[in-house]
Amino acid sequence: MRFYPSFDKSFERLVFMEKILGDKRREVILEWLKNENRPITGGELASRTNVSRQVIVQDISLLKALGEPILATSQGYMYLKERTNETKKAKRLIACKHAPEKTKEELNIIVDYGATVKDVIVEHPVYGDLTASIMVSNRKEVDEFIKKIETTNASYLSELTNGIHLHTILADNEKTLNDVCAALDQAGFLIRDDH
Ligand SMILES: [Zn+2]
Repeated sequence: MRFYPSFDKSFERLVFMEKILGDKRREVILEWLKNENRPITGGELASRTNVSRQVIVQDISLLKALGEPILATSQGYMYLKERTNETKKAKRLIACKHAPEKTKEELNIIVDYGATVKDVIVEHPVYGDLTASIMVSNRKEVDEFIKKIETTNASYLSELTNGIHLHTILADNEKTLNDVCAALDQAGFLIRDDH
């Protein structure tokens, strides 16, 4: 007996195509992340693959467990390529202290010089050093970061340490980093060894 593709059959196909399944979906997500130089948000990946945000969190965890260098940043997920930071030649760890409401001002000073705030590091009383990727390079990204903290009621990591934290900052050259540090120092953001 010959089987003719029925409406049901094509419907199944259609569902499959709209909702990309399991391994195939993770493969596609990986390709997108690899080909993009900007972070892609979980919400964006969810809508592109027609699954929930929770499924994406699970997919990313599975991909990470397979050894894929995916980084979750405040701006979304990034695939860590060697060349991602290649354009930023200089890197510096800076020690800062400020109240939570000054965060935007601090980040804006850094990005205004063309530097990128890679992460924030705080010392947690239980877990030790905690590093969170921030990856903001301009005022728009700073605004998005601040807005996300406000809308999700997340707290700043530095609240764990009375405002004391470290940032890794990246720039094209050392002079930019020097300028950033001078500006931060002038605005009172850098920790000074005055003891
Ligand atoms: Zn800071």
